[in-house]
Amino acid sequence: MTPALVTTVRERNESAWLLPNDGSRTNHRLRADMRRFADSDMVDLVVVGCGAGGSTMLQRLARRGWRVAGLDAGPFWDPDTDWVSDEAGSHHLYWTEPRVISGSDPVPLGSNNSGRGVGGSMVHYAGYTPRFHPSDFATWTNDGVGADWPLRYADLRPYYEQIEQELPVAGDDWPWGDPHSYPQRPHPVGGNGEIFLRGAYASGITAKVGPVAIANGRFGNRPHCIYRGFCLQGCKVNAKASPLITHIPDALAHGAEVRANAMVTGIGFDERTGRATGVHYIMHGTPRFQRAAAVAVAGYSIETPRLLLNSASRRFPDGMCNDFDQVGRYLMVQGAPQTAGRFDAEVRMYKSPPPEVSSEQFYETDPAKPYKRGFSIQTVSPLPITWAEHVAAQGHWGTGLRQYMSDYVHWSCLGALCEFLAQPDNRVTLAGEKDRYGLPVANFAYSQCDNDKRLIRAAQGVMEQILHAAGADEVITIDRYAHLVGGARMAADERHGVVDRNCRSFAVPNLYITDGSVLPTQGSANPALTIMANAARVADQLTGSSR
Ligand SMILES: Cc1cc2nc3c(=O)[nH]c(=O)nc-3n(C[C@H](O)[C@H](O)[C@H](O)COP(=O)(O)OP(=O)(O)OC[C@H]3O[C@@H](n4cnc5c(N)ncnc54)[C@H](O)[C@@H]3O)c2cc1C
Ligand code: SF4
Repeated sequence: MTPALVTTVRERNESAWLLPNDGSRTNHRLRADMRRFADSDMVDLVVVGCGAGGSTMLQRLARRGWRVAGLDAGPFWDPDTDWVSDEAGSHHLYWTEPRVISGSDPVPLGSNNSGRGVGGSMVHYAGYTPRFHPSDFATWTNDGVGADWPLRYADLRPYYEQIEQELPVAGDDWPWGDPHSYPQRPHPVGGNGEIFLRGAYASGITAKVGPVAIANGRFGNRPHCIYRGFCLQGCKVNAKASPLITHIPDALAHGAEVRANAMVTGIGFDERTGRATGVHYIMHGTPRFQRAAAVAVAGYSIETPRLLLNSASRRFPDGMCNDFDQVGRYLMVQGAPQTAGRFDAEVRMYKSPPPEVSSEQFYETDPAKPYKRGFSIQTVSPLPITWAEHVAAQGHWGTGLRQYMSDYVHWSCLGALCEFLAQPDNRVTLAGEKDRYGLPVANFAYSQCDNDKRLIRAAQGVMEQILHAAGADEVITIDRYAHLVGGARMAADERHGVVDRNCRSFAVPNLYITDGSVLPTQGSANPALTIMANAARVADQLTGSSR
């Protein structure tokens, strides 16, 4: 990154320079001196959830002088004391509150699908940060599947560039979608990345290093990556980007409050004015209410629709903003089959970040194929517990499982992200069961369509081809899911979605949704960058500021 660009980023978002420069990871002074609003204060905006979408909103609006408070159900993490470079010791990072799953292809939730606490799911996300392709914004027009967004790729492009600089993202020059380059050069790759590159080359498939939101070289007071591979355990080093370190420090420095351990249970609503009045929440067992002139919900694709459904009133008997039965619908996951290959030489896939190399060669609709849309392929590099899950899912148990585990250092692993299509019946509703706050839990129903199933098999075939071409003597594949988006999508009108192109709800003029719930389609890209870029765009629209 050039010195001029670093200066520009710092002028926009100083988070990386607000972290300590003494070997510790948290600016305790900044947190202790944080502005604190009283419940009775009328803040300009209260944000529900401090993850990818919520934290970006907080930072952008605090910079423009808005009085903003972010409430998160989980803790305000301290990487030094709360996180460990250990798989078994990291389960507290996941959202493990009860949820019901149903449908013909139910999606397991928990570790692979959502996080809790300040930083959100990005605290334990892998770190891939690809952009969506221009075609993702018009799949209905182009392919007759999915939906058209009420905005275009060009509307997001400047915000992709901003967020890529702020994380910052490292990678090769990117040839797919809208070709672009990244602010930082690609990282060196480990054994798993080398195998992907070798097998792809031998198969005539283009694969590239990155894009990952992992510092390649010092960035502000953040050190560069030390390649120990614990990215999904929270990165104690602060090299991997999450809003906890990339946006929250700057938000605090500009007067935002982050209120951790505050579980929002309902959105306040004035029947007379038709406007949101703030949020009901529970903190340390006490029910409270934060007044606000506007509310932005960013609680992740399951919790956001659940909160709307749990905020029923006389005006909204079936849940807030649910006049047209759109809340909770069109929730998507990506099909994420995972293929492992065994090599005689040691691979040691744990000795580098799991996100290293990817290919988007199969991303777009190919008229010669019996399915629409496509898939991407990435290195995944599971640590031993996740590797045991892979092997056990293949049906190996007892002695067989022990043998695969003893052989761990010889295995390489690739994962695909298949673009499952948005369908109205893949949705969140309220279950009969209640959680510890007495609130109905989410029931998440999911069923695959034929196009989804064909994509999985096609992606599996390509991954197996790559690993065989690299010299694997045994190859095993399991089915998985990844990345939830949708459930309160943006649309041109209220009969087809919950929010408009600026993420303002159709039904309540001062209620916004700014997380992954608003995505109408998902492409086969990992979603965090798009969620942050969209939140930065919405913040600009709200404040009327130019780019
Ligand atoms: C294991 C794993 C790996 C992943 N890898 C990648 C990757 O490589 N690249 C990528 O782009 N994406 C990845 N993702 C997905 C990515 O992290 C999410 O898509 C993204 O963080 C979602 O952003 P969000 O704003 O919608 O929600 P989140 O970032 O999850 O934030 C939601 C926040 O809301 C809080 N919350 C929820 N309900 C309430 C409530 N009622 N009251 C108060 N607070 C509440 C939660 O505690 C949480 O902090 C991964 C996810 C997981 C779990
Ligand atoms: S490999 Fe790099 S990014 Fe991943 S946890 Fe280690 S230091 Fe952080």
